[in-house]
Amino acid sequence: MLTQKVFLFDFDGVIVDGMNEYWHSSLLACEKYLNSPHILFDQKFYKKVPDNFKEIRPWVKYGWEMVLIVHEIIKSENSLKNFDKSEFINKYHQNCQKILKDNFWIAEDIQKILDRSRQFQIDRDFKTWVNLHQPYFKVINFMEELKKRNIKTGIITTKGKIFAEKILKQLNIFPEFIFGYESGSKMKILEKLILTYEILGFIEDRKKTLIEIKQNEETSHIPCFLADWGYLKYSDRYNLSNEIILLKLDNLEDLLAI
Ligand SMILES: [Mg+2]
Repeated sequence: MLTQKVFLFDFDGVIVDGMNEYWHSSLLACEKYLNSPHILFDQKFYKKVPDNFKEIRPWVKYGWEMVLIVHEIIKSENSLKNFDKSEFINKYHQNCQKILKDNFWIAEDIQKILDRSRQFQIDRDFKTWVNLHQPYFKVINFMEELKKRNIKTGIITTKGKIFAEKILKQLNIFPEFIFGYESGSKMKILEKLILTYEILGFIEDRKKTLIEIKQNEETSHIPCFLADWGYLKYSDRYNLSNEIILLKLDNLEDLLAI
């Protein structure tokens, strides 16, 4: 019998809003480590997160894709402008693959330079880096309430584990476990977790991930919640199957009745 109860959370867009950090770290990765001949770097890029970056963020699955998006936005020629954004997102996955191919880049290497960029900022000035993240305090409170009820919390993210861990520690959150991209796909992680835990719910802001969970026979029993406050595409809120529940920040407490 499974007696260990756990509630699962995605990290970015669910526990924290890291939009400033995604832009800064990806930009720094472009500036310091990417060695692209297509960009002429300007410090003014750091001043503000451009709207088109914010608008493309809901399509992102892995961190390395953000480095590619930043590269396309800051290119000196043929840069990604606001008006051709919809063309870019219509074929988002193919476009990411094309950028990799055209530049002879490998996704894993780009992920490594994003991680290096994060590590560089942490070593230089940890506080400034952490402060680029805005926590969702209602989620933090919910996690504390779960703890009081002896329900464990777990994080499954596509971020590097050590980065999520550092931010959570700062927020005084010590989950039972954190799985980052190093541990493989969220699906594979869940398939293992269900052997040891009774999973009371999973809050995630990527609808596709939740659909996959519901379509997999082994994991379909996991209650899935789509975080309304996260990085959602406009259409995500509509045509939700009744198995995936759109969750609002103000309704988090209702889940404590489970
Ligand atoms: Mg997310």
